Amino acid sequence: MLTDLTLAEAHARLRAGEITAVELTQAHLDRIAALDPQVCAYLIVTGEQALEAAAQADRRRQQGEDAPLLGIPLAIKDVLVTQGVPTTCGSRILEGFIPPYTGTAVQRLFDAGAIMLGKTNTDEFAMGSSTENSGYCTTHNPWDLDRVPGGSSGGSAAAVAGHMALGALGTDTGGSVRQPAAFCGVSALKPSYGRISRYGLIAFASSLDQIGVFGRSVEDMALLMNVIAGHDPQDSTSIDAPVPDYVAALTGDIRGLRVGVPREYFVEGMQPEVEHAVRAAIEQFTALGAEIQEISLPHTSYGLPVYYLISAAEASSNLARFDGVRYGPRESQGAMWPTYKATRGHGFGAEVKRRIMLGTYALSAGYYDAYYLKAQKVRTLVKQDFDRAFESVDVILSPTTPTTAFRIGEKVDDPLQMYLSDVLTLPASLSGIAGVSVPCGFDADGMPIGLQITGAAFGEPTVLRAAHAYQQATDWHRQSPAL
Ligand code: GLN
Repeated sequence: MLTDLTLAEAHARLRAGEITAVELTQAHLDRIAALDPQVCAYLIVTGEQALEAAAQADRRRQQGEDAPLLGIPLAIKDVLVTQGVPTTCGSRILEGFIPPYTGTAVQRLFDAGAIMLGKTNTDEFAMGSSTENSGYCTTHNPWDLDRVPGGSSGGSAAAVAGHMALGALGTDTGGSVRQPAAFCGVSALKPSYGRISRYGLIAFASSLDQIGVFGRSVEDMALLMNVIAGHDPQDSTSIDAPVPDYVAALTGDIRGLRVGVPREYFVEGMQPEVEHAVRAAIEQFTALGAEIQEISLPHTSYGLPVYYLISAAEASSNLARFDGVRYGPRESQGAMWPTYKATRGHGFGAEVKRRIMLGTYALSAGYYDAYYLKAQKVRTLVKQDFDRAFESVDVILSPTTPTTAFRIGEKVDDPLQMYLSDVLTLPASLSGIAGVSVPCGFDADGMPIGLQITGAAFGEPTVLRAAHAYQQATDWHRQSPAL
């Protein structure tokens, strides 16, 4: 089946003229039509535009063109603006909003010949770990439809896991590509802060947000990274530094690679099968010639409170713009304040309101020093843990999440339990460094387990090389759900 190909395989067949972009795109649209009513990975499927773009890709190829993603159908998280195509951030407050431009990362995909199948579901404004906070639907995990796919990029993860896209873009503020990748048994990379332009990414927490990629292999992620990474004058936080060739980094050789295993990442309450699978993965690294050493990241436990202060503070400011005046539907009540109140009161869901309130509180006079400023100082300590660690190791191995995917409804009324599912991904986000999650096993219920590989800032080539070598030696990433 065409939907069983990896991105790299599909690309090779398109190039060889064995398949057309129209066939490949139609196969994905057919699969979406058949399966997505149960999964709800997509908020909107742009079938007509996709087929048009595919036909154009085929024409370009006939004329001898060979752009790096020519004819490759992908899914895009619905927090990334797309000209002419509704973009909601999973929020009712942006229902019907049609952006007037396309963000840089998505535009680079289009320029490289990629085809957008549609926009994927997300927790509202990317706040959540299960997609249950979406204002539209809950995405179901393709491995067990009664379970969550993780979040906030749960739609993108489920689309790739369910073979409803060859790859996808998501965003990661505190774990939102790595955690759903772990829950859905796919690969995802959160690049270093500044590696990919955030222009056209609707901001949640600007000092943390970063676009990430999903694939069914590390090689697929490298192909996507080669297209989207790099400086953008439209985003002053994007780094003006040369972009390495991520595919060339996949040498398959990790002999002598120095691997750290942080003792703080095997936390109490961790599902034993998760620890077991990750320990087995570490042994695999030894077998591949890596040198393992135990390390300490002593401020790990501060990651969660620091993250929820800083991200909520930034969110409370970023989300002030959604007032029904400039974007989305307006609930007009005549006067200004009642209109704001009605629009924001009805447009935002409970989790978003919780964060706006927490963030506003943390930034308010009298509390700023005790909460926001203090959190910023502790953030520096968390980052220094990694700076020190990367003096003696090249990558850090750990579980991506303490448990596998939980059941829909299980944590939705307990925010703290929900926040804890990101406890192992938050520190890397606070530190702006690179991290991937790759599949490394299954629990007794057949749910996927994720291995997190973290590297220094702009250490994507090393992280991807390590992850790729692991995938060359294992076949966890080749398993697919029987949907
Ligand atoms: N789950 C975390 C949160 O709720 C991280 C979300 C994200 O990375 N966008 O904030």
